[in-house]
Amino acid sequence: TGSARVRSVHVGQPKRIAIIGGGLVGALNACFFAQKGFLVDVYEYRADIRSTEKAVGRSINLALSFRGRAALKAVGLEDYVVSEGIPMRARMIHDTNESTHEVPYGIFPDQFIISIDRRRLNEVMLSLAEKYKELVTLHFHHKLIKVDLYSGAMKFVTEDGSTVERSADLVMGCDGAYSAVRQAMMKQSLFDYSQEFIEHGYIELETPPNGCGEYAMPPNFLHIWPRDTFMLIALPNLDHSFTTTLFMPFRKFEELTTEAQVLAFFRDTFPDALKIIGESNLVQSFLSTKPSSLISIKCKPYHVGRTVILGDAAHAMVPFYGQGMNAGFLDCLVFHELMDSLDCDIDLVLPAFTERMLPNSHAIIDLAMYNYIEMRHLVNTWSYYLRKKIDNT
Ligand code: FAD
Repeated sequence: TGSARVRSVHVGQPKRIAIIGGGLVGALNACFFAQKGFLVDVYEYRADIRSTEKAVGRSINLALSFRGRAALKAVGLEDYVVSEGIPMRARMIHDTNESTHEVPYGIFPDQFIISIDRRRLNEVMLSLAEKYKELVTLHFHHKLIKVDLYSGAMKFVTEDGSTVERSADLVMGCDGAYSAVRQAMMKQSLFDYSQEFIEHGYIELETPPNGCGEYAMPPNFLHIWPRDTFMLIALPNLDHSFTTTLFMPFRKFEELTTEAQVLAFFRDTFPDALKIIGESNLVQSFLSTKPSSLISIKCKPYHVGRTVILGDAAHAMVPFYGQGMNAGFLDCLVFHELMDSLDCDIDLVLPAFTERMLPNSHAIIDLAMYNYIEMRHLVNTWSYYLRKKIDNT
């Protein structure tokens, strides 16, 4: 890797690509373009995560599944990323009486999802992109504030507050759910947009390793404590901890403001989780964390002029299907397959991308919203049904 040369381009093909956002989707896109020999500039609002202490406000780990793996495979990263992840073969459901049961993801040994460290994944992809030194330049502390969708002219604010102007033949908005690129598109006629905040917010709590330094629960599971109107989930980390996420209506978070209230709530609803999170750890984290909101976004089309949006910028979704990043990675794979099949002619590739991805993305957004109910409620009903069925056979 790292050895591609600058390609020579002909009419209709872009030479210089600007990727706005160096998050998961932007970083992967940079790898794809570099491997094809394009000149790539990645403009990222934040500092380089490889040299910062901790990315604040992001989910710590993510479930990687088939779509995401297919895209990582295309840039040669699948095996490495999978080797750094933890397979989750089933959901482990925790009842209020502290009993557990399993709901497998499939019947074949290769049907599992993988818990991966978000930050590590982002770092690995940025480092791979940067290996193509002749082709890729990463610009941190560059916040896009203006883009001309037709000419590719862009304006950024940098760390010291000064502005810089740049231009590109193709602008890719990979700048997340609150995308500045999409906001520019929304000013265009015939651009459709809708968004929905759900009534649930979330906070992340750490479940540390047990006293012997081992996992406090079996690691190869996505642990779920479904409680109908709210739920707790936990995904394993390589350091033997779990990242435990509580999804709950904001009004319920607002009711829990004292140590006694938080502990009583957990003793009542998540007694086994309380034991492994630890009372003081729970209280400290719970009372010092403001719940984050969850948004679902649909828009149409995904391209205007010489500009296109991918990932959360195009289709942010609630996280209950574990598919936001995976869908964003699939965007990258499909975009680059279209580049190959349409001779990198962006006048053809961009409309083809919208046409191909729009129905899929809208479907996964709806499925994620459906799973919002399934995970905290129906999982109980289904597992009850399955257990009954097993008992009767
Ligand atoms: P982001 O990760 O948001 O990256 C966007 C980047 O753009 C950021 O680095 C940002 O700093 C930068 N940026 C923003 N504005 C500008 C600007 N104006 N100029 C320059 N740069 C800018 N997905 C899964 O597939 N599996 C899971 O298990 C999963 N779990 C999740 C759990 C939670 C609690 C949440 C909230 C989400 C989860 N997701 C999951 C979804 C996943 O996090 C997103 O789909 C994914 O991060 C989208 O990647 P992205 O690169 O499109 O956007």
